[in-house]
This record gives sequence, structure tokens and C-alpha cells, in this order.
Amino acid sequence: MSNEVDVVVVGLGPGGEAVATQLAGAGLEVVGIDQRLVGGECPYFGCIPSKMMIRGANLLAEGRRIPQMAGESTVTPDWGPVARRISEEATTDWDDEVAVERLEKAGVTFVRGTGRLTAPKTVEVGGQTLVARVGVVLNTGTEPAVPPIDGLADTPYWTNRDAVQLTELPGSLMVIGGGAIGTELAQTFSRFGVSVTLVEVADRIVAPEEPEASKLLSGVFGREGIQVITGAEITKVSYDEGSFSVVVGEQTVSADKLLVATGRTMNLTGIGLENVGLDPEVPSLETDERMRVADGLWAIGDITGKGAFTHISMYQAGVAVRDIRGEQGPPADYRAVPRVTFTDPEIGSVGMTEQQARDAGINVRVGTTDLATAARGWIHGVGNDGLVKLVEDKDAGVLVGATAAGPSGGEILSMLTVAVHAKVPTDTLRSMIYAYPTFHRAVETALAETALADTALADTVLADLG
Ligand SMILES: Cc1cc2nc3c(=O)[nH]c(=O)nc-3n(C[C@H](O)[C@H](O)[C@H](O)COP(=O)(O)OP(=O)(O)OC[C@H]3O[C@@H](n4cnc5c(N)ncnc54)[C@H](O)[C@@H]3O)c2cc1C
Repeated sequence: MSNEVDVVVVGLGPGGEAVATQLAGAGLEVVGIDQRLVGGECPYFGCIPSKMMIRGANLLAEGRRIPQMAGESTVTPDWGPVARRISEEATTDWDDEVAVERLEKAGVTFVRGTGRLTAPKTVEVGGQTLVARVGVVLNTGTEPAVPPIDGLADTPYWTNRDAVQLTELPGSLMVIGGGAIGTELAQTFSRFGVSVTLVEVADRIVAPEEPEASKLLSGVFGREGIQVITGAEITKVSYDEGSFSVVVGEQTVSADKLLVATGRTMNLTGIGLENVGLDPEVPSLETDERMRVADGLWAIGDITGKGAFTHISMYQAGVAVRDIRGEQGPPADYRAVPRVTFTDPEIGSVGMTEQQARDAGINVRVGTTDLATAARGWIHGVGNDGLVKLVEDKDAGVLVGATAAGPSGGEILSMLTVAVHAKVPTDTLRSMIYAYPTFHRAVETALAETALADTALADTVLADLG
């Protein structure tokens, strides 16, 4: 390998892999570097294995619902098929040979190692110095964040990386962190028969989402027997003879295992940012609308702080590739970032929450409807918990945010993402035809609420939701 190439990609998460592959496909000489597994967190420890676990958990939940609507059922959870599917089908036992082959076939030179900027357009890896004629793309992603709780570091706690590799389940589990990862995994393990306690320091779980969505999910968790503790300070963690003790407020909770799901730490220190005139202590890398951080330096993925999602990493990869190739195209735009928490009910949301819109000074009108009372929700019966909430900019007559929670909430979200992204006038959305009886028809009802509602009326609707 020549020491001079066109582009060096440091970190091959979903976006880095896409950038490297596309640029090599366009004829550029590309080196891709990863210190762990090509593809990053998503295929090996994140999205894919966790969604396989959730699929199993949801099948169990549906099986348990049969007696209420369709006869008899006996459900006997078995983690074995889930563990095998993750190990054999998803991750090839956490081996990236196939991904490396795919990369090399696309023309990328792959180097396994830790890349570090030593000067502008210059990366050192394994004692070798690579000089990039065009520039360097950073996609170094994140690690699980572990809070500085007294005693925690000395215990054998789990992170998502342990949770997705389990072959056997514990009797009881405490999950610290009620965000997307914590809630998804808490419900999954609970549905497989693990006694789960979920602790969140904020005053509600899935706190970045609408309060109505948090309330909905807490209600379901309560009914499913997941103990949820919110607004709680954890002051001490200890581990003795196979059991964790966690001091939460005034109480001590014991569990066989402890899963820490308290967010992510960006991989920004140790990659040589100081050698290109940047501060390595920044919370995230500031990029322009073409993903440029500096001359000849691009950043994509979680480290840009625009949303820790695979679809953001891939989206930004497309923007960066166009810029590197000197092509025209739309600049990065984050008004309509969709996100889904894959609990049951699934919480899909896009754009701003009501509070964010108010804080931005928008003249807000909201419409909310209960999915369970919509025709399809009522037909669906057990498992129909859900809602649609729309946040409208009343002056502009467009949606600036929306939440679709319930069965297929993430799928209902698609039309709402189009509406926010393309600024479809709410008058147009109101004049559309919505298939009967679908879950997405609840969007029409929520739109009617926005037409009627001022905030006070929306509050009444919410109060009716209980
Ligand atoms: C449990 C869990 C579930 C998730 N579920 C979803 C989901 O359903 N949907 C969704 O959109 N997102 C989900 N995510 C988030 C998603 O995994 C990330 O947003 C996604 O992986 C994009 O990350 P990235 O491109 O920034 O890089 P990452 O995937 O974090 O990869 C970064 C890569 O860079 C490498 N690296 C770091 N530093 C260096 C260095 N100095 N030199 C060389 N290599 C380096 C690492 O080894 C790694 O391979 C989930 C995450 C977790 C943890």
C-alpha cells in the first residue's frame, strides 16, 4: 500500500463503510481503518441484534395475548433460538470477515488498527503514516457511557455489548437508564421471564420523547410487571456473591445482573484532533452542511451529535461523498430526523416535540388522538396502546414534529416524516384519503384535533387518555 492515497476513512461504522465503498467505487484510492469490527456498533452490538431480541420478545407477548382473543396458548420462553440467531445469522459469532471481504471487493484497502490524525490530511495507523491527497473522513462512533457512580466500576456490570451476547438469561436484572436502549432491553428481558427493575434519573422514561409517550410506555411497563423507578439518584453500587445491590434514593434494590444503558461516549479523544487544530474535549464535532470539519477533514455519524442513529450516519455519508466528489446535492438538513424506540408500543417520532417547538418561539397547535379508540385500535384489541400527537406551526400551516406510538408506530411515522421533511401543508394532509381501518388513519383524527384545538383543548384530550 502506498503511503499516499486519496482518502483515509478512520472508523468504519455504517457511514464510514458506506463512504469508503462509494468513493472506491468512484475510482478513488481509499484506505479504511477500523480497530474493532467493520460495520461498527449497529450490526454487532446495536440495532440488528437488539431488534432480533425484540422480535422474539414480541412473539412471546402476542402468544400470551391469545387467551384474551383467540383461544388457548401456553408460552414457554427460550432464549436459545434468539442467542443462536444473533450469533449465527447476524454476527457470525462477532466476526467481520464477510464485511472485510465486501469492503475489499469494492476496492477499499482495509487496515485493522487504531487511526490517529498526526497532521492535516495525515493519519498514523500501526506505525505507518498515510497522507491523504483529498482528505480524511472520521466515523469513530461511540462507546457505552458508564456513569461515575460510587462502586460501579468495580462490579461486573453489563453494557449493550454484553447483553446482545448472552446465551443464558439471569433471574433478575436491573437496568440503569430509561432511554431507547434501556427500555428496549428491559422489556425484552422481562418478556423472556426475567424480573426487571428499570431506574431512570430523569422524572420519566424515554425523556427526549413527548411526555404522553413516556406516560403510555410507563403504563404498559407497569402492567407487564416491570418495576420502573424514575427521578431517582443512584448513589452506590456493590456486588457480592453473585448479586448486585444498588442504592436508589432511600431504597436498596438487589438483582442478579446489572445493565448500564446510560448513553454513549463519543470516540473523540485519542484520535489526534489536537494535531489538526481542534479541541479533543468537545462534546461532538461541529460540521458544516457538507460534513466538513476543516479543510480536508469530514466527520459523520454519532460523533457529529446530530442523532445517534444508523440512518443519520448513512445520510451524512451520502452528503460527505457528494462533497468529496465535488457533486451538487442538497445540504445536510436535520429538521425531520425520524427516530424509533422499538418497545411495544413502538414510539416513532420526528422533528420537534411540542416543548421544543414552543421553546423555538413557534406558534404551536397540537392535536392528539388515542390509538386504542380509533377503529383499527379497537379492532386490534389487546396490545392496542398508542397515540398520535402532531405539533403544528400554526402560522406556517405545516407540521414541525409528530409522534406515532403503538403497534407499528415506526411505520406510521413514515408519512409524518414526509410531512415534516417536505413541509406538506396541514390543509393538504387534511384533504387526503386515509385507508380504513388502518392505524395511520389516526393521523387524520389528530389533524382534526389540531384544526379544533388550542392547547387547552389538547390538554383535555390528553386528560381523557388517562
Ligand atoms: C443497543 C443499541 C441499539 C441501537 N439500535 C438502533 C436502532 O434501532 N436504529 C438506529 O438507527 N440506531 C440504533 N443504534 C445506534 C447505532 O448503532 C449507531 O448510531 C450507528 O452504529 C452509527 O454509528 P457510527 O456510524 O457513528 O459509528 P459506530 O457504529 O459507533 O462505529 C464506529 C467504528 O469506529 C471504530 N473506531 C473508533 N475509533 C477508531 C480509531 N481511532 N481508529 C479506527 N477505528 C476506530 C470502532 O471500532 C467502530 O467500528 C443502537 C445502538 C445501540 C448501542
